[in-house]
Amino acid sequence: MVKVRFAPSPTGYLHVGNTRTALINALFAQNQKGRFVLRIEDTDVERSDVAFEVSIIENLKWLGIVWDEGPYRQSQRLDIYRAYTKALLDKGVAYKCYCSKDVLEKMREASLKRGEPPKYNGTCRGLSKDVVEKFEKEGKPYVVRFKSSHTPIGFKDEIRGEINFPRDHVDDFIILKQELTPSYNFAVTIDDMLMGITHVIRGADHISNTPKQIMLFRAFDAEHPVYAHHSLLTGNDRKPLSKRHGATSVREFRDMGILKQALVNYLGIIGRNVKNELMEEEELVRTFYLGSLSSSDSIFDVGKLLWFNKEYMRKIPVDNLLLGLGLSIDYKDRVLLLRENAKTLKEMKELFDIFDGTDIEDGGVNYLSQVEGWDSIVAPLKVILASNGDILFDDILQGVEGNTNLKKKELLMVLRILCTGRKSGPPLKEIFQFIPKDIIMKRIECLQQRFSLL
Ligand code: GLU
Repeated sequence: MVKVRFAPSPTGYLHVGNTRTALINALFAQNQKGRFVLRIEDTDVERSDVAFEVSIIENLKWLGIVWDEGPYRQSQRLDIYRAYTKALLDKGVAYKCYCSKDVLEKMREASLKRGEPPKYNGTCRGLSKDVVEKFEKEGKPYVVRFKSSHTPIGFKDEIRGEINFPRDHVDDFIILKQELTPSYNFAVTIDDMLMGITHVIRGADHISNTPKQIMLFRAFDAEHPVYAHHSLLTGNDRKPLSKRHGATSVREFRDMGILKQALVNYLGIIGRNVKNELMEEEELVRTFYLGSLSSSDSIFDVGKLLWFNKEYMRKIPVDNLLLGLGLSIDYKDRVLLLRENAKTLKEMKELFDIFDGTDIEDGGVNYLSQVEGWDSIVAPLKVILASNGDILFDDILQGVEGNTNLKKKELLMVLRILCTGRKSGPPLKEIFQFIPKDIIMKRIECLQQRFSLL
């Protein structure tokens, strides 16, 4: 059975790039009727923060990305990594390295001087038994390194095809650090092995780690999982998506009033060759296969996300919108009207000013300043508004039409600005019934003051 995992490091808020990784894993697992594991990679004590873990989990849940197992936490599995390190030491395929930080730094500088990537030169690989014993007696600090095989390593990537690495790509890398915590590559390999992960689907930034992980699998006589490295997200300038491009975390998009359905749909089709971009979850799952993912970087375009959002604002049940806006069922008709005019929940909230604010948009004021005689309708309008009983928009229109020379189009726009404070919005005839008459009165008075008509 297929088993995949999403393995975030809790060193920041859930980024859309990582969310896409989680989603791709979830879609693949569901399509294959497999299992999905959530694993928190929190062995980097300095950079990890429980608050980030809580936020990542909360945002995954909000998006509806669900897991079958976990969350496992690597920080709670340290004994396992230590035991497996010991197994490699006993087997003679790992060794303790006592090189000091200074020595390693000099080695690094020398490599860089030669124009080579920094690599460990293997000094401690061949230490005699006596020297090791002496160092151990002295309690000299050490790390544990893996004896890399120095053979070319290749694997078939499900998205990119054959990937081969030269024999010297991997040095004797650290598997257990001085504080006896595992390195990233070691913890990942042990977990993928013990958790029975069949497919590792992750970002292309991890390609160069894969040979190390494959070597470790071999050292344990275990078969490595299938690998699939998807492309990374970029901004419109084709540079890696970062804060420079604006919002990047799920949290920020939520605050902007983006619906989860829109974010899931967009992240689910980005970098995929699909016939129809608008797909709800069931269709995303049904049409998903790893080969449908492009190997070249994909642009994350906020404009496109807003397009998806606008579509879902109109598509989802109105009850969900009410929930997202924190409004009761009493507001249903207003929300139904406004949703046609808002791209986000935030814009929708702003549109509620129509019913309880008295601000007039600058565009509205500018418009009026260019329409001669707009105020000819003020007096009859006030009279109608002051009358008792239900007033319909048609009553207003009939009542003012005879008192003005404004063209019909102008008249409707002036009425819209006076009643709603804006130049655009839902059909006036329909929205009018929801605007309290005293709010319209106040708007008119505000405008009269601004134009010194009072
Ligand atoms: N913890 C790694 C990260 O957040 C992911 C490791 C993996 O998927 O192998 O980038």
